[in-house]
Amino acid sequence: IKRDARFAQITADHVAFFRDLLGKETALIDGVTGEVTADDMEPYNGDWMRKYRGHCKLVLKPGSTQEVSKILKYCNDNMLAVVPQGGNTGLVGGSVPVFDEIVLNTSRMNKIRSFDDVSGILVADAGVVLEVADQYLAEKGYIFPLDLGAKGSCHIGGNVATNAGGLRLLRYGSLHGTVLGIEAVLPDGTIVDDLCKLRKNNTGYDLKQLFIGGEGTIGMITAVSIQCPQRSHAINVAFLAGESYEKIQQVFREAKSQLGEILSAFELMDLKSQQLVQKVRNSNSPLEGEHPFYCLIETSGSNSEHDSEKLEKFLEDVMNKEIITDGVLAQDETQLRSLWSQREGIPECLGHWGGVYKYDLSIPLADLYKLVEDVREKIDAAGLRGDSDEFPVVDVVGYGHMGDSNLHLNVAVRRYDKRVEQVLEPFVYEWIAKVSGSISAEHGLGLAKKNYIGYSKSETMVALMTQIKKLYDPNGIMNPYKYV
Ligand code: FAD
Repeated sequence: IKRDARFAQITADHVAFFRDLLGKETALIDGVTGEVTADDMEPYNGDWMRKYRGHCKLVLKPGSTQEVSKILKYCNDNMLAVVPQGGNTGLVGGSVPVFDEIVLNTSRMNKIRSFDDVSGILVADAGVVLEVADQYLAEKGYIFPLDLGAKGSCHIGGNVATNAGGLRLLRYGSLHGTVLGIEAVLPDGTIVDDLCKLRKNNTGYDLKQLFIGGEGTIGMITAVSIQCPQRSHAINVAFLAGESYEKIQQVFREAKSQLGEILSAFELMDLKSQQLVQKVRNSNSPLEGEHPFYCLIETSGSNSEHDSEKLEKFLEDVMNKEIITDGVLAQDETQLRSLWSQREGIPECLGHWGGVYKYDLSIPLADLYKLVEDVREKIDAAGLRGDSDEFPVVDVVGYGHMGDSNLHLNVAVRRYDKRVEQVLEPFVYEWIAKVSGSISAEHGLGLAKKNYIGYSKSETMVALMTQIKKLYDPNGIMNPYKYV
């Protein structure tokens, strides 16, 4: 891609305007007129995977919705492109600039605005870190209806902008259902004041839905109101092993039938993913020996004794029926965390060798793991996978939120390599189109998948999206080069 020549270059005058507006020195990082090193800019220019890198020279950290409004209006009037940024943990290259777009970072907008402890409705600024919001809610006996491995860094505004799915979607549903209201700013400075706190509100088009999963392409989310469920008193976790993917599907079927109302997560991990985690951490598997597949089951309910008994009975049953080959139940909080970390640690451990090609896919359950086998076969046929440095590919692994038919196909590499890319793309996308899956289950399109949207959406749908983009952002300054 080429830099869009319609966008202005940032000048000293622009910087002076922003400096004046934001007042505080700490509210901007100025590489235009100030002395700033590449290291200062790195956290904003480089993405979590070290795969995408922008060349932004100015980072703005507004402290209020009013400031965001003034910034965006000024940028729109002066044709300055911007990238909204939260915790910068996104996995599709959406959160970093492509060229010199200004980064609009939400880290200073980090206040909880209100919480109603009867209805469970939380209203908070976009820059509140997910884990901070969840800890705040824990003290009140509530839980944030989203949980994911990056919770210590990602912002709830970023979560909503990507419509993140995470580990408990199975139980609490998508943000399209739990987010009740949004406050956002359009590129022309208009404040979209739809911070509704009602569960039911059938009064016209539900425009907030456009911002949920909009990846910062039509406006900047500044606050959200969200329905939070009661925190369960009793959390139990089981870690099970099976000899085939078919068996894990049976486990899922049984889990739904026997644990239905308390089931809160069902996660899949293949042997390769677990071997790599153990290699990087120099640790052992929670279960003895090697098993081709593992799954993690979490239950959350209100009665500890009752839930444990149910889970124990379930475990015994799937053992007796020879659906699983081994399994363990967490006996205490430490063990529970350690079992979860076998799953949550995968993304981080896979990056250990240098890089990861990541595909976040929705696939009908029956076919879900077949893709991993097909990709491994193709990588091997091309002679790209091996133990020594001469091979770019360390391994091909599959894991993910199986309870939501969501597979993470990851190819861990020692370096990013054109030959690997040629094997993977468009093969993976064509494969997905054939089974009517989605090329992006929960991570979004960003820069990574922009060109492949046609594998999951028809021309008509893409044309409608383009219309909306043009309507809300006629100058195209919001997160350009991405999405549609
Ligand atoms: P960023 O990365 O900063 O931004 C993401 C996108 O949203 C960008 O396009 C950005 O422009 C836009 N954006 C950010 N803030 C705003 C705003 N206020 N207004 C408008 N647009 C905005 N994702 C899942 O869905 N499920 C998982 O289980 C999961 N696990 C992960 C585990 C790890 C270890 C990591 C690193 C990531 C994981 N992710 C997962 C991906 C990522 O954490 C989520 O996409 C997260 O929601 C991004 O939040 P963020 O604040 O970091 O946003």
